[in-house]
Parts: sequence; structure tokens; C-alpha cells
Amino acid sequence: MLRVLNQIIPLLFPNCCALCQLRQKHVICSSCISQLRNQSVHMRCLICGTPNQTWVCKSCQYAKWSFDQSLVLCDESSRLIPLIKGSDEYGQIKYLPAIFFAWHILNFRKMPPVDLLIPLPELFAKSKKRGFWFALILVKKWSRLTRTPYNKDLIGVNAIGTKYSEMNMPLYYLDSRNLNTHLLQNKRIAIVMPLMQSEHVLHILASHLKNHGVRWVAYWSLTRKPKKDHY
Ligand SMILES: [Zn+2]
Ligand SMILES: [Zn+2]
Repeated sequence: MLRVLNQIIPLLFPNCCALCQLRQKHVICSSCISQLRNQSVHMRCLICGTPNQTWVCKSCQYAKWSFDQSLVLCDESSRLIPLIKGSDEYGQIKYLPAIFFAWHILNFRKMPPVDLLIPLPELFAKSKKRGFWFALILVKKWSRLTRTPYNKDLIGVNAIGTKYSEMNMPLYYLDSRNLNTHLLQNKRIAIVMPLMQSEHVLHILASHLKNHGVRWVAYWSLTRKPKKDHY
């Protein structure tokens, strides 16, 4: 009897909750989802996406960023982080269904309509080490879901930095070979990435786009590096 049950249960409930391993229908169980919901009711700064008591955080009130909005799925303390971040890289492909499920539940309604999606480029060495370009995988899914076109060749990236600095700062540029200014006129663009880091770098990228006629730029990210000025 037990053996039969053990065979039937996986057929009836094919998934394990990616967070608590409970066997059930969805990729994340309802109690884990409601826990995530409770965590996500905290306000975030509309512009930079950091947890905040007001709609626009102090640094965004003073800084005139060129981007208009950031949408972030979770913070670094969230239970979702082990699904997003592997041993040292952001981009766990085996948990994609759970990541998309969580995004859908927590962020889908907040996604504004956009005209074009762009995956944030990463250094080739990074994609090569991981085996895929994670932002592109996210963009393809959201492109299908929201019926929005995407362009993966518009933005390029170089690393700038000294040999003494541990982390090379990425420097994003518009790839002139694939730049069609006419197509960018008055467009609303969302740039997608697994991890949001420096506002300054993203600010420069958004100003390049706006100099070419783009009207509105949003950053959609799974998580973001904490900033010092949490209030
Ligand atoms: Zn669960
Ligand atoms: Zn802010």
C-alpha cells in the first residue's frame, strides 16, 4: 500500500516547493508565498528600488538619476536568494520556474507597460563561466508574457578598472552598429538584470538612451545590493 502511495503522490503532486521542499502542486507552496508577500509589503523607493519608508529615498531626492523606476523582486536577506544565486554567480537556471512564479505573484501587477525590453549585458567571461546569459533568459520570458519585443544587441559592455581594484566596474555603451535612433524615439524601455548594483553606472546607461530619444527607462532586477542609506 505504501509503495503504491509513493508512486501515486508524485503523479498527483508533481512539484516540490522550491523553498520548503513540501510536495504539492505549485513550484512554491502557498504558505511560502504568503510569507514572501508579507515581506514584500515594505515600501521601496520607486526610483532605485531600495527598501524605504517613503516612496522616494533620500539619495534619490538629491540625485537626479536618468532612470525613472526600478522594480526589484527581493532583498539579499530573502529566502528567494538561494534560488537566484548559485555558489558564486547570480543565475540559477534550475529554479527559473520558481523565480518566475514568485515574480508573477509579487511583481506582475507593478510592471508598467513598456515598448522594448533589453537584457543588461555582462562581460563575456561571466556568461562563459556560467554557461548562459541569465538576463537574456529572463527577458525572453517576460517578452513572451507581456508581448513586448526585445533587443539584445543594442547595449554593449566594457570593464573599466585598475589591476589593483578587485571588482571591475562595467561600462555600458550603445552599440553604434545596432543603433537605430528612429526606433528609440519616445520609447519606454525596461532593462532586465539578475542583480542591481551601482546607480551611478545605470544612471550613465539611462542617460545614453535618453540622449537618443528614449522617453522612460526602468530597471527590472531579481535582487539588489543593499545601499548604506536605508531609512
Ligand atoms: Zn514552501
Ligand atoms: Zn532611491
